[in-house]
Amino acid sequence: MSATRPAPESPSKAEAGAAPGRYETVVGLEVHAQLKTASKIFCCCSTKFGARPNTQVCPICLGLPGVLPILNERAVRFAVMTGIAVGGTIAVRSVFARKNYFYPDLPKGYQISQYDRPLCSGGTVEIHVGGAWKRIGLVRIHLEEDAGKSLHPEGRQGVNTTLVDLNRSGVPLIEIVSEPEIRSGAEAYDYLIRLKQILVYLDVCDGNMEEGSLRCDANVSVRPRGQSVFGTKTEIKNMNSFRNVERAIAFETERQIRLLESGGRVVQETLLWNADKGKAEPMRSKEEAHDYRYFPEPDLLPLDLEPPWIESVRSALPELPHQVRERLTRDFGIPEYDAEVLTETRALASYYEEVARRSGSAKLASNWIMTEVNGIRNKEGQSIEEFPIRPDRLGTLVRMIAEERISGKIGKQLFEMMLTRPEDPEALVKSQGLLPIDDEASLRAIAREVIAANPGPAAEVRAGKERTFAFLVGQAMKQSRGRAHPEKIQDALKKELEAT
Ligand code: ADP
Ligand code: MG
Ligand code: ZN
Repeated sequence: MSATRPAPESPSKAEAGAAPGRYETVVGLEVHAQLKTASKIFCCCSTKFGARPNTQVCPICLGLPGVLPILNERAVRFAVMTGIAVGGTIAVRSVFARKNYFYPDLPKGYQISQYDRPLCSGGTVEIHVGGAWKRIGLVRIHLEEDAGKSLHPEGRQGVNTTLVDLNRSGVPLIEIVSEPEIRSGAEAYDYLIRLKQILVYLDVCDGNMEEGSLRCDANVSVRPRGQSVFGTKTEIKNMNSFRNVERAIAFETERQIRLLESGGRVVQETLLWNADKGKAEPMRSKEEAHDYRYFPEPDLLPLDLEPPWIESVRSALPELPHQVRERLTRDFGIPEYDAEVLTETRALASYYEEVARRSGSAKLASNWIMTEVNGIRNKEGQSIEEFPIRPDRLGTLVRMIAEERISGKIGKQLFEMMLTRPEDPEALVKSQGLLPIDDEASLRAIAREVIAANPGPAAEVRAGKERTFAFLVGQAMKQSRGRAHPEKIQDALKKELEAT
């Protein structure tokens, strides 16, 4: 797959910043995504997060002797959906393998994974950095089980203890391995954002990094620009946010360049990211000196998928982020930038579609959501599902503005009210006395009041000082609380200035 892909593009300005001058950063990411199944991959235990330790376990996920794993069909479906979504090739036969290592949170002494025959090969994730799109190739996506979790609470009298929680043992994961085609921390960040977006659109992973549903290891090397051979890589683990991945790559890039510049060489090793110190530190070397002694899992048959079944998964695939983006720009004529913002989640895209349809003004609807709605949501940390103004009411509001029945200014006042009140904007406009004033008599009355209250400026205007007229218009708008028709109030003022 990788052989047929075009050579990576020349680095953009943004990338140059990460590896100053003569060097280029090379990154490949290994992402573990927890699949959103109710039960584990080889047993019926619940995968629900946050249960008391070791309450969601059974002989199978505890690895007791004599048990047999039974594959969870939904986990397979979710992995296949992901593979299809990124344009990978789904293997009609893939094989589970034992990955052997000893660790306190791995009761069987091996993890069931896939090795030389993964479920999916190839595919791409498109990223958008520095104004340009770029395809990052994938090596593979395979299915595996998660291990348990070691906790290191401080024990009594300063003695450290290790506790093991096996609730996570046997939770289904997919591992998504990228080609070394990422060229900066910024590209890695965007790759992760877009991969997560695809997984969440597919509804196969909740994307929650705090709960460990998405985890990422970064392989980093540097090489002199123009050199085609890769440098020696290090692998960074233990990054719990996308921003930390970006930071860790920047840190490691600089460290490797400094090392090479001072005549040293990079040693292939595993590093742990220490977010508090902002440093990647070597893991004790013995712990990472792995020989996994992979061999085919004897307790599971090869995973054979019928091509018609794969096709049925393909045809049932929900719309993907790029498809929704393209549909919004095509059907509503909004700019690509808007479509990008509005497709952040599938729910936000649906919200937009309803506001656009109801308002009859696609671009105005987009502006209102990008600035007003997202402004409030960012401040309150709300998802669009939690946002108090539902799209039917916002659609009506935007329609009233689009049809010039109210000004944008009144629209904002209504919007503020709608955040805490349930009424329709049509009803609010009436009950709050916010209807526009555009009848001659009322406008003339306002003009008279403003002139009477500002005799000095009125005299200036009469004496020919044009600029002061704008002041009177401003006073009239203020007097009417923004309700006066902006052009008609000028007529009314002129007439009153002449008449008095
Ligand atoms: P390993 O056998 O050490 O695990 P792999 O070939 O399986 O290495 O690759 C693991 C990850 O490391 C992949 O994401 C791959 O793209 C990336 N990678 C491989 N070589 C390099 C390199 N020289 N620099 C940066 N990343 C690399
Ligand atoms: Mg590897
Ligand atoms: Zn179990």
